Amino acid sequence: MYRAKAEGRVRVFDSGMRQTVNERVEIELALRAAVQRNELWVSYQPIVDTRTGRAMGAEALVRWTHPVRGPISPVEFIPVAEETGLIEEIGTFVLEEALRQMALWRDEGLLPENFYVSVNASARQLRDHSLGRTISDGLRVYRLGGDRLTMEITESILMGDHQQVIEVLTGLRGLGIGLSVDDFGTGYSSLSYLSRFPVTTVKVDRAFVTGLGVDPGDEAIVRAIVAMSTALHLNVIAEGVETEQQRDVLAGLDVTRCQGWLWGKAVAHDEFATKHLRPLVEDPARPAQHEAGA
Ligand code: C2E
Ligand code: MG
Ligand code: MG
Ligand code: MG
Repeated sequence: MYRAKAEGRVRVFDSGMRQTVNERVEIELALRAAVQRNELWVSYQPIVDTRTGRAMGAEALVRWTHPVRGPISPVEFIPVAEETGLIEEIGTFVLEEALRQMALWRDEGLLPENFYVSVNASARQLRDHSLGRTISDGLRVYRLGGDRLTMEITESILMGDHQQVIEVLTGLRGLGIGLSVDDFGTGYSSLSYLSRFPVTTVKVDRAFVTGLGVDPGDEAIVRAIVAMSTALHLNVIAEGVETEQQRDVLAGLDVTRCQGWLWGKAVAHDEFATKHLRPLVEDPARPAQHEAGA
């Protein structure tokens, strides 16, 4: 999969879990250089309304294209970036890129009303009280409303440092920014924190989506997540939807916001605009593809 393997360097950028200390140091050094050499870029994956099949937003996903090794997965370098503190710089870069890109799309007449970009936040960023300032400055510079942005946080972030995280998150909500709980169901899912923290959306992890239509256990879990989210007035997004069957089961569970390869992988901004934004502005009134009584 990675060119690293073709070079016989299988272990260097292999699965994050099996990295040795040396491997992590090597990734860290390469990553520091990468940040300086602008090898990082941002890709966008559509978040769609499955009743129309159209994008309502996008998740910004960082990419690292190493000049020799080729693409290196964020699953491998984000944990290293988090440990070393590089994530602050990378996180700010992704945030700034996402806002800048939305402003460009808007200026080209390509940004639909209510369209938003969702950016992953790491624990370190959320412990930093300057995050709100960074974001509000960015929104002002690019003349974007806070509702154009959602921050994705993981369950583990909600488990530690309660007071500090609540303050930062409350500040973000005050700017109108959406807050999604990413990979929901994979951590120590405690239902209580969903009501204690000012979140707006729950993203059901791909692990439970994969078995829909095949594994009744997964369907039961998703049903429970939806019931709880609905009771708490939270939106639900299903991640990693790859098949029409999964989409249809999800629709039957009232989950009509989805993300997954069925609609598109994460791609560079220009491809995203061509595939997912142009059709929206060129034919805004096109009838829905999969209208489900909406
Ligand atoms: P995530 O935030 O849960 O992102 C979803 C991951 O699932 C992405 O992998 C995406 O490409 C992948 N995915 C989406 N649809 C499908 C599908 O239908 N099937 C399958 N098999 N996979 C699908 P990616 O881009 O490799 O990112 C992995 C993780 O790296 C992210 O998980 C996130 O935790 C982290 N990450 C990525 N970009 C950033 C960033 O800018 N900042 C931070 N802090 N973390 C990031
Ligand atoms: Mg995410
Ligand atoms: Mg996720
Ligand atoms: Mg994930």
